[in-house]
Amino acid sequence: MVPIPEHVNSLLSALRAGGFEAYPVGGCVRDSLMGRVPVDWDLCSSARPEQVQQVFQGRRMVLTGAKHGTVTVVTQAGPVEITTFRADGAYLDGRHPASVRFLPRLEEDLARRDFTINAMALGPDGAVIDLYGGRADLRARLVRCVGRADRRFHEDALRILRALRFASKLDFAIEPETARAALEDRGLLDAIARERVFSELKGVLMGPGAGRVLLAFAPVIFQVIPELAAGDGFDQKSPHHCHDVWTHSALAVDAAPFDVVTRLAMLLHDVAKPGTFFTDEKGVGHFYGHGQAGAETADGILRRLRCDNAVRQAVTALIAVHDIQPPQTERAMKRLLARMGEEQTRRLIACWRADCADRPEAVRRRNGLVIDGAERALEGVLTEAEPCFDLRALAVNGRDILALGAAEGPAVGRVLRALLDQVIEGTIPNNRTALLARAGEMIEKIQRKPHGKPSEKRGDRAGDMSAAGAG
Ligand code: ATP
Ligand code: MG
Repeated sequence: MVPIPEHVNSLLSALRAGGFEAYPVGGCVRDSLMGRVPVDWDLCSSARPEQVQQVFQGRRMVLTGAKHGTVTVVTQAGPVEITTFRADGAYLDGRHPASVRFLPRLEEDLARRDFTINAMALGPDGAVIDLYGGRADLRARLVRCVGRADRRFHEDALRILRALRFASKLDFAIEPETARAALEDRGLLDAIARERVFSELKGVLMGPGAGRVLLAFAPVIFQVIPELAAGDGFDQKSPHHCHDVWTHSALAVDAAPFDVVTRLAMLLHDVAKPGTFFTDEKGVGHFYGHGQAGAETADGILRRLRCDNAVRQAVTALIAVHDIQPPQTERAMKRLLARMGEEQTRRLIACWRADCADRPEAVRRRNGLVIDGAERALEGVLTEAEPCFDLRALAVNGRDILALGAAEGPAVGRVLRALLDQVIEGTIPNNRTALLARAGEMIEKIQRKPHGKPSEKRGDRAGDMSAAGAG
């Protein structure tokens, strides 16, 4: 018997009292049987969406999915989705079922579900309803399609990536026939909406089995990110590496913390290596500029996958600098912090560690010491009484610079950044009086410069702004 939380039980009782069948189904059953706490509880029911609405009249509901059979009831313990038993019509465009048919029976609803471990429900007595051997597959730690894998992937190719996602997340193997079909049918993924692909891909990266799954199903990954394929088997001809580019990348993902930005960065960090490769006179491989080039390629990949801007920018910023020397002094660390901010600097350190996890032992030990040095420098900076490595911590701000007579516009930021640079370099203390004096000198210099721009005319605000715009 699986314990069902109170807020879910009360919804089940209400539906049953209304004369409908209702069952917890899918991920919550799987997770409970594995001894994990389900993230959310989904219910399926014989009640149609309008009947569900009637049963829960007066309660808060979200109806955006009602057309496809899902009504979400908002309880104090969180939202619960209630989906009418249904069968999906053909996925004509590989994205949406062309139609959904509501059905009277649980059995048919379970049959449309993707994997045996996701196709179980809980009966009113708390017993598990398991028509496809889901429990046996849980015990064997297997992801297996309900029915013929090949047919299920043709209905909805996203299931190929979902199989990889569950294998990674649960650290399961993929049953051989399902695995074979996933590899063979991977071309069907081309028709799937990129945002759905990206969502599942992130899921693959965020599981404990990520590295293993990436390596075993590389052709599936290359189907959605063809730019990575050139790294497969690419010999780096370098004493710093013991694996080809793709194997190294997959192992780097595996060694990274469970942060989606860091893991995406590790997946893509060496994407430009094959393109920048050359060997020196000794036959040793080098990849000058592969960080910056990789950032550009990654930017294109992430745009195509409809990655949100914040994640895309954070990932590409890491890739661009992943091969710089880890700073060893607090001053050098402050320069890095000024450029990247604390969160990204911490991620970069995590990238450096992940990037050397699969290196030859001696390289790993040597690099590890340098990364330790960078980490000590970071802690040193952050434990200073009043660390100053960004404009927020500077003892003067934009208003102060304007009050000194500077023209409104980008010049203000330039003066502030110049002051910050000098504070970081230790040529001036982070102290108001000293900074104002230095800023005054700078502004005077700017205003004396004979650019012939209207900004030279003090007090001409509109002119100042247009000069700023032109600059
Ligand atoms: P997670 O905890 O990772 O969310 P989950 O099992 O809840 O796991 P969802 O993607 O939320 O996964 O889907 C909920 C359920 O809906 C699945 O367990 C499965 O039964 C069914 N399902 C979802 N997507 C599909 C699909 N593309 N094809 C068939 N069934 C699906
Ligand atoms: Mg879910």
